[in-house]
Order: sequence, then C-alpha cells, then structure tokens
Amino acid sequence: MDLLIQDKVHDESRQGEALVLEPVIGKNNGRKLYIESYGCAMNFSDSEIVASILSEQGFETTSDFNNADVVFINTCSIRENAEVRVRNRLKEFAGAKLKNPGMVVGVLGCMAERLKAKFLEEEKLVDVVVGPDAYRDLPNLIEQVDGGQRAVNVLLSREETYADISPVRLNSNGINAFVSIMRGCDNMCSFCVVPFTRGRERSRDAYSVVVECTDLFNRGYREVTLLGQNVDSYKWTKPLPALSKGEGSNEQDNLEVLSHGEDLGEAVVNFASLLEMVAHVSPELRVRFSTSHPKDITDEVLYTIAKYDNICNYIHLPVQSGNSRVLDIMNRTYDREWYMNRIDAIRRIIPECAISTDVITGFCTETEEEHNDTVSMMDYVKYDFAYMFKYSERPGTLAAKRYADDIPEEIKQKRLAQIVAKQQEYSFYRMQARIGKVEKVLIEGFSKKSNNDYCGRSDQNAMVIFPVSEHYKPGQYVNVLVERTTSATLIGGIIPQTP
Ligand code: SAM
Ligand code: SF4
Repeated sequence: MDLLIQDKVHDESRQGEALVLEPVIGKNNGRKLYIESYGCAMNFSDSEIVASILSEQGFETTSDFNNADVVFINTCSIRENAEVRVRNRLKEFAGAKLKNPGMVVGVLGCMAERLKAKFLEEEKLVDVVVGPDAYRDLPNLIEQVDGGQRAVNVLLSREETYADISPVRLNSNGINAFVSIMRGCDNMCSFCVVPFTRGRERSRDAYSVVVECTDLFNRGYREVTLLGQNVDSYKWTKPLPALSKGEGSNEQDNLEVLSHGEDLGEAVVNFASLLEMVAHVSPELRVRFSTSHPKDITDEVLYTIAKYDNICNYIHLPVQSGNSRVLDIMNRTYDREWYMNRIDAIRRIIPECAISTDVITGFCTETEEEHNDTVSMMDYVKYDFAYMFKYSERPGTLAAKRYADDIPEEIKQKRLAQIVAKQQEYSFYRMQARIGKVEKVLIEGFSKKSNNDYCGRSDQNAMVIFPVSEHYKPGQYVNVLVERTTSATLIGGIIPQTP
C-alpha cells in the first residue's frame, strides 16, 4: 500500500480515468480522441488543456479506446510503480491497435519527458511522445503521424503556462475545479524527478487566474483549487493592466490587493496577494491550494487564510522526514526545527486549520533512530491526513547519483506500515474531535453508497455525509452537525439555516 487517504489532489480512485466532453458545435473532424490520466491533479488539469486544444481541431472525445482514432495516456513518473502501471496499460492498447492499425497512440506527460525518443524504441506501438510543455504542438505532431512518421516533442519551456487556453472541464461535477497557477519546479529535492520532467518553475499571469476563477464562478462552480508544485513561491510581475469584469468579481478590490506589491509602476503578485485576489471573486467561492513548501510558506499567507472565510482552513505541508540529517540529504532546505516552527505558526494564526503531509520511508541511509524522528513528528503535528510512500529510486535524480538505495525492501515496508498505522490513529483522533461541531459543507452530490445521502467537504477538507434534504441541492452550502465518524468521514445531519 502506497497511499492512505485520498483527497482531490492525488485521487487514487481517478487514476486511469478517461475524459469525455461535449463536442464543440461546428468543429467536427470526424475523429475521436481517448485520453486517460495518471498521477497528480496537475496531470488531470493538463489533460483538460490537451482536450481543449484538440477539440478546437474538431476532435470528439470517447470513453472507449477501442472506438478511438487517437489514444493518449497522460503519465506520471514519480515512483517506479506509476510507470509500471502505464506500461501495463499500453499492452492493453496493443490489442485495439491490432484491430485498427490507423489508430494513433501517444504518450504524454512526465514519462514522455523522462524517456523522450527512447519510448519509441521501448514501446513499439507508440507513435507520438509529447512532454508537458509541448501540448500546443499536438495538432502538428498528429499530422506528422498521419503522414507515416513517428513524432516527438519534449522541449521544455521557460515561459509556457497555457494561460490563454481555457481548459474544458472534464468529468466535472460542475462544483469543484482545479486551476493551475504555475508550472515546473526549481527545488531539486534529491529524490524527485519533477524538476527534470516538468522543467523550470514559472508563474502564470495573475489576471488570467482571476479571470478563469471568475468564469468558473459564473458557470456555477463553487470551489477552486489553485495548483502548483510549490505554490508559496508563486511570483508574477507585470505593469498594471485593467482587469476584465465579470459577475462576482470585484475589480476595485483586486486592484487594491495588487497595489500592495506595487513597485515603480510594476505590480508584484506573490502567493498571498494571489490568494486574496481569488478570494475577492466572491465570498461564495471557496479557495483551496496545493502544494505548500515548508521552506517558503510565510506568515503573510497564513494571515491571508485567516482573514478570508472563503479561503479554506486546510494546508498540505509535506514533511518527507522528521529527521534533520535525512532532510539535508533529501535537499529539502529546512530542518526539523524549521518545520515545527511553521506548524506552530499555523496553529497560532489559524487555530482551526487542518494539516496534511507527505512522508517518504526508507530514504537512502535512513537509520531506525532517524525513522523514529518521523514517527515523533507525526506525534507532534497529529496530521489530519497523510500520503505515505516507500522511497523509490528514480533514474537521473540527485539521490540516484549520490546515494545508494540501501534500505532493504522489508525494512522500508515495515517502517511504512508503522507510520500508516500511526496516521490511522491520528486521522481518527482528528475526526472524533469534530463530533458535536457544526461544519459548513459545500454539497458535491450524492454519496457514493446511497442516493439518500449527500456528500461534500468541510472547510478543513473532511468528507461529510448527511441525509438528502429537498431544500438543498449540490453546489449549495449547508451547516451539518457532526454526530459520528469513521477514520475518513464525518457523518451527521443538516441544521436548518437561521434566516
Ligand atoms: N511538490 C510537492 C512537494 O514538494 O511536496 C510534491 C510533489 S510529488 C508529485 C508528491 C510526493 O511524492 C512528494 O511529496 C513525495 O512525498 C513523493 N515522492 C516524490 N518522489 C518520490 C520518490 N522518489 N519515492 C517516493 N516518494 C516520492
Ligand atoms: Fe519534487 Fe521537491 Fe519540487 Fe516537490 S518541491 S516537486 S518534491 S523537487
């Protein structure tokens, strides 16, 4: 087991999901696109950009790859098992291609970037390999394949943010949406392949983010999750242009927020200001974000979260290890004390804030004592959720070059099992602490198990289940009194709003 608790940023239940959208009227080229995605929310968000680019070219989407003319798989390289999964899936596409030799099979995303043209040698059925910054080139690349060639574009960019492409929302409930605010990563954590597969960090135009969130709000969406590998280092600089107006956006307030960072006629928007700008779109639009980096999360961001009711009290703050020596060789650039100081600041400034984390067990040279520091960090923070992984060596990373992957598999597994058990206790503890409290819940739809119940998330990102009421529908907020819990879900009933 690699993953304990799902949330929407890496949702295990969505892995391999195929995306389907309404055809664009008047633009049908008679060809069908099948696209499925693996990995983190950023990849799912990228697949929406890909679908958007190809639907402009007249492609229709299908949920059955056997009927498709173009089959794309948007891949993840973060751990070896993610890549194994994709290779197995490609074997399944081979049968379909045998029946339909004209079918174009393409590999997109991080694995494409990591393996580049080598992919074409290794996987004979693959016709096209496209890295995360080259999606605008897809129409040309498909044309090349149609002309009998195989095609590769894995150029990484220092500028591409796809800011002008309004992503189609795929398989959406019409209530929550992901909005990418930056791409790439400059951090070079020694275990991580992301800086190699997604390139240099760049921040998207702040206005385009606000315009996209405003548009989503106007179309009925009530929650946006701002996405980046390290949202706290978001930084965008531009001379002040005029903001486009939209129902629900408050242009004057947004300009005032921007002017805080004004410098010689330039507006510098950092993550705190961006959060504030998005919070101003409407008090009815919930704002979430992921991922925060412990070295960069500032008190300014924490005060901004505390100031706005619609910025959710939930922070994903990956610790990776609780031991300072291990953090040093992971190149995380903070130590145990720094991390604890950030936790203390969150508790002081946003007392009700839920905190989740990522942990890696069995990193190179980790001793039992150092592992115990991770366990004691879990005791210190009592995380609401955690994603826990065994270290998986990734070719080309700093760790693969510098350190031996020397912790035996059974020890990695034993340490993982220990922290998974510990986290289950703390998740249950955090859930239990909500009993008797009233949670403001955004209704997302019927619960998975029954159409007699609604489900939705609390401000702190806990899943809440409660009986359907005819007075409320998905997309509305309700107050729910929590009566009982499991280790992952709060269960209760709606309290009627006082007029
Ligand atoms: N940018 C985010 C951050 O800094 O925390 C996370 C990015 S990564 C997609 C998500 C998580 O995967 C990381 O936080 C880490 O715990 C895990 N991860 C990354 N590389 C790994 C590796 N080589 N082996 C095991 N887990 C890994
Ligand atoms: Fe990878 Fe570190 Fe960047 Fe996160 S911050 S994507 S773990 S290099």
